[in-house]
Amino acid sequence: MDLHGLSAPARLLRRRLRGAQPSNWPRVDRTCPVAGRRLVAITFDDGPTALRTGAGEPLTESILRALERYGMRATFNMIGGTHDNYPDRAGPLHTPLWNGIRHDHYPAFGLDRWAGAANQPLLARRVAQEGHEVGNHSFRHLAFGPERIVYGRRAHHADAAGVERDCVRFQELCRTHLGVRPGVARPPHYVARTADGIDTLAIYRRLGLIMIGASFDLGAWRARRGSRRAYAAAAVAPLARTLARDPDALDGAILFAKDGLNMSLEPAVVDVLPAQLQILHRHGYRVVPAGELMARGRWADIRPEHPLAEAAAGLLALGLPCAFADNTLRPDRPLGEREAAAIGAAVRARIPALAIPDPAGRTRREWLLALHRATRAAGGEPHARLRA
Ligand SMILES: [Zn+2]
Repeated sequence: MDLHGLSAPARLLRRRLRGAQPSNWPRVDRTCPVAGRRLVAITFDDGPTALRTGAGEPLTESILRALERYGMRATFNMIGGTHDNYPDRAGPLHTPLWNGIRHDHYPAFGLDRWAGAANQPLLARRVAQEGHEVGNHSFRHLAFGPERIVYGRRAHHADAAGVERDCVRFQELCRTHLGVRPGVARPPHYVARTADGIDTLAIYRRLGLIMIGASFDLGAWRARRGSRRAYAAAAVAPLARTLARDPDALDGAILFAKDGLNMSLEPAVVDVLPAQLQILHRHGYRVVPAGELMARGRWADIRPEHPLAEAAAGLLALGLPCAFADNTLRPDRPLGEREAAAIGAAVRARIPALAIPDPAGRTRREWLLALHRATRAAGGEPHARLRA
């Protein structure tokens, strides 16, 4: 994943920044599904991968087999292929540059033809045919904009137009080769701002894609230190510990995993996934694709049956901000001045004719309901389906 290699302070800073701003179209890290059943989504990035593992089968097939054993369906955030990402040099193993200095190469440097839906269409099609969701992780896996904390030397798209072309190219590949239309997306390395200052959320929205993050890391992408056995045990332990402490802790969560090699060039995901799935199964979790999880409940802090959920969904469908970037509505938190100004500006830009309730001094709940009523009175369609 994309926070790999980040120091603890940098992670903390990023987390703080992420929660600080309201988001027009929230990136979904976690949802609040229907009460009474434990649901979780697992996302596998960067595949499909045809490289054969120890068991002699393509890596993606090993993942499919493990999922099938428990009747679980997942989300595969696929790429088209990294084969055009040359000239380049291989980077040092066990570091974030393990698969290239200037670009990413999957499944590894020089082996690009073994991964990606364009290079491995049969494998990609099999994923879709087995009922899993295909997500758009971009065609080339080129960063959408500059990222200085870890990938300062990495190439990135020059502008938002280039990003959009690359995402459309992947959607087109899915249509012609897989017969599916992805509804979810995750930018490479979570870099969401383009070099010319555009928020990826706006691009995704135009393409009918919902941006998904993750709220729990299954961990088998990191570099290995110590024995392979110790590595696998360390990757499984956080999940076991989390659910032992609170079996509901991951209800509604989106889990991160990788459909590829780890930073030490090993298929670690295949070693640890069966044990991780067994733990989820033992705790009564159903694993469903991220799109399905979101359809059951979008925000992490209110349930779908909450009256505010409908109002928020309607506003969201109109492109109006209603949630924080960490995917919470926090209905009773008063809006800050800066936040109120940002929301006001977005609303005015979007529907200038509307009698806009002044958000300053209100709680988010009051503002959402007032705007919802005003939108309706102006002939808007606040009940438009979220994913229409
Ligand atoms: Zn990726």
